[in-house]
Amino acid sequence: MSSPEGAPQDVIPADLLKGQKALVTGANSGIGRATAVALGRAGADVVVNYVAGREEAEKVVEEIASFGVRAAAYEADVSDEEQVVAMTDRMVKEFGTVDILVANAGLQRDASFTDMTLAQWQKVLDVNLTGQFLCAREATKEFLRRGVVPEVSRAAGKIICMSSVHQVIPWAGHVNYAASKGGVQMMMETLAQELAPKKIRVNAIAPGAIKTPINRDAWDTPEAQQDLLRLIPYDRVGVPEDIARAAVALASDLLDYVVGATLYVDGGMTLFPGFATGG
Ligand code: NAD
Repeated sequence: MSSPEGAPQDVIPADLLKGQKALVTGANSGIGRATAVALGRAGADVVVNYVAGREEAEKVVEEIASFGVRAAAYEADVSDEEQVVAMTDRMVKEFGTVDILVANAGLQRDASFTDMTLAQWQKVLDVNLTGQFLCAREATKEFLRRGVVPEVSRAAGKIICMSSVHQVIPWAGHVNYAASKGGVQMMMETLAQELAPKKIRVNAIAPGAIKTPINRDAWDTPEAQQDLLRLIPYDRVGVPEDIARAAVALASDLLDYVVGATLYVDGGMTLFPGFATGG
């Protein structure tokens, strides 16, 4: 199968992640969905976390199961400690362990600074930053309990934090979101430093503009898309599969020596495109 834009999905080797168990949060939509499917295509068994939208989650499970691997949908709010602990415990019980965590769940609650309510600020920090902290902590406990199983992977575990180009690009009208992703960057790097000696690899992906429901306004009219393309030297808006392939590579032993890195998957958005002609 090919994605409508970007490289085809069937370039993913079917046994790259064979025998590994992956948990993807927010996996019934957008980037999380494509990532869960790509991990399954690469041979991993996959838990599809969702907070709302059971039907969509079940569809993702069905698609993953068609590759001959195991998949299941688990409901949990990543910002709720008890629910995250229960989700990870259940995965260990039902799947045996966790080898890969893609901490992807995220949201926006946009407002200009003086209009932003504390609730909008808090919600975004709770899901985008605290949610990743909780999922990473619980997955790490399991990585440490199990240790390295050389037939499965050279690492005891892999954590991929879904960040954003807004971990480095300030974003007016989105201070809660930009602050959450800046936090993700430093959390990821600190965890990578702390956990590397235990053979746990922590990295991040920073997507640029990817067509998903989170940013529909930015790409679903020709005018909006034209505006957006001015920020993207590679001259196409990304698709979820662009991020999914990066996640598969980062999770695999192909990138075993990559620790504490942010992989920008953004068509060059972080290259200061305004300076192509100015400056
Ligand atoms: P999306 O809205 O399609 O997906 C977000 C997912 O997170 C949904 O499944 C949603 O239900 C889930 N979610 C929200 N709150 C949750 C909670 N409390 N518990 C569990 N799940 C929850 O958007 P997307 O674009 O696929 O976003 C995925 C990630 O990628 C986010 O972290 C987002 O910040 C990041 N990102 C997206 C883009 C982009 O252009 N689309 C760019 C940079 C970063």
